[in-house]
Amino acid sequence: MACISVKVARIENASGLSFEATFPNRNSHNNSDESWEVQLPVWRPGRYERGDFAQFILKMVGVDENGNDIKLEKCDLHRWRVPCHIFKICWVFQADILNAGSTYVSDDLQYVNPVNCFLYDPQNVDLGYEISLTDIPKNWDIATALPQKNRVLHARDMQHVMDSPWMASPNLYHERYEEGGVDFHVWAYGETPPQHIKFIEDHKAFSKAQIAYFGDFPTPYYHFLYLLPSAMEARHGVEHEDSTVIALGPSDKIQSQHGYDELIGIASHELYHSWNVKRIRPSEWTPYNFSESSPSKLGYIAEGVTTYMGDLFLYEAGCIDLKGWCSKMEALLFRHLNNPGRHNLSVAESSYDTWLDGYRPGVNGRKGSIYVEGAVLAFLVDARIMTLTSGKYSLSTAMKLLWERFGKPRIGLTADAYWDILAEVAGERLEDLRSNYADGTADTWNALVEAMKTQKLVLTKSTDDQGRITARIVEIGG
Ligand SMILES: [Zn+2]
Repeated sequence: MACISVKVARIENASGLSFEATFPNRNSHNNSDESWEVQLPVWRPGRYERGDFAQFILKMVGVDENGNDIKLEKCDLHRWRVPCHIFKICWVFQADILNAGSTYVSDDLQYVNPVNCFLYDPQNVDLGYEISLTDIPKNWDIATALPQKNRVLHARDMQHVMDSPWMASPNLYHERYEEGGVDFHVWAYGETPPQHIKFIEDHKAFSKAQIAYFGDFPTPYYHFLYLLPSAMEARHGVEHEDSTVIALGPSDKIQSQHGYDELIGIASHELYHSWNVKRIRPSEWTPYNFSESSPSKLGYIAEGVTTYMGDLFLYEAGCIDLKGWCSKMEALLFRHLNNPGRHNLSVAESSYDTWLDGYRPGVNGRKGSIYVEGAVLAFLVDARIMTLTSGKYSLSTAMKLLWERFGKPRIGLTADAYWDILAEVAGERLEDLRSNYADGTADTWNALVEAMKTQKLVLTKSTDDQGRITARIVEIGG
């Protein structure tokens, strides 16, 4: 089948990557009298704000039949017009930022997130990609969820390529495990994962627990791509269709107990995203529209439920004990209780606005966080469902239904559909939770104390001399 062919290579001794692409429907022998357009994504899934990746493009030319370079003119900030006689498009991308969503090249690493640096043809998004890594030596491993053969990677269409990072290096840690019939790979660049035997055991445990709750896993394989730079500050993860990239650094952080806990916490969170957001996905992102900002009010499901569930599954899997879960919840509540912004914009409104200032402190007291306020709401929902059903059902039951009815058939999720399924599982509508804490800005404290009580936990708070509120959770009678 015809597909877009892309050759990727490093600019010699520099931190740039060069790309050379031919588009099968657009070569000089077809559509010969019409110009067309190529688009670079303006954002990347997992980061709900503009990335404006065209700022890293150093060069964009078309090559005609005689081999002459012709500079392509822009018709939009991230779109170029391609004259009819152009045979091939060549561009250079500055690749010197290393984080969980970037593209980076050095002497021993080629790390690419195609969503940063790959062009697509907006009129032909079903075309597959064939990606040749032309300068990767034979002794380098290529860590990716994309099928590969002889340094050529294959993606079935534009959505697939944009959601499939890779890292190639002669120095990759690699371990595999199998759980629920799924072939899991753990790759690491930089340092060996801390406590690496326990690290894999914990991965097995939370994978098993999550798969058990959902009933099955969306794909036959999954790749954890860890970036563990010894000398660089990093901390976050990005979910993809069949993989995740997780970054943590520098060395003293990676090797500390706190660093270990962070890595496992992010890993459980990212794996949960395989169902929630990669498949159970807000309608605004089904499919992803990479050419413009795509705000959604459902970040409290995408990130809030995932944050809460990622931690809960560490507990379910035995990776942490109840005390460990309580201290994770206390840390979340510290951020929740000390953010006056949650009384100004609801978490649904804050979700819509991540595209403005969602990943920065922004104006003090303006907004909430889809991660923090979203996770607090998920806990309230979970406790309510368990109480109403005498422990028979929980938020996990509802997420399994969402997986079956929206995730598997890839139907975009709406707020109404989410709250309908919660009501179906709970046996009654959770209208107060929705209007107070999803769409409204009511204070959560009393609801939290009550919800903790239903879980046999006591929640208290204290205020220090600087006015900061600290929550404390202990077992009843503990
Ligand atoms: Zn997330």
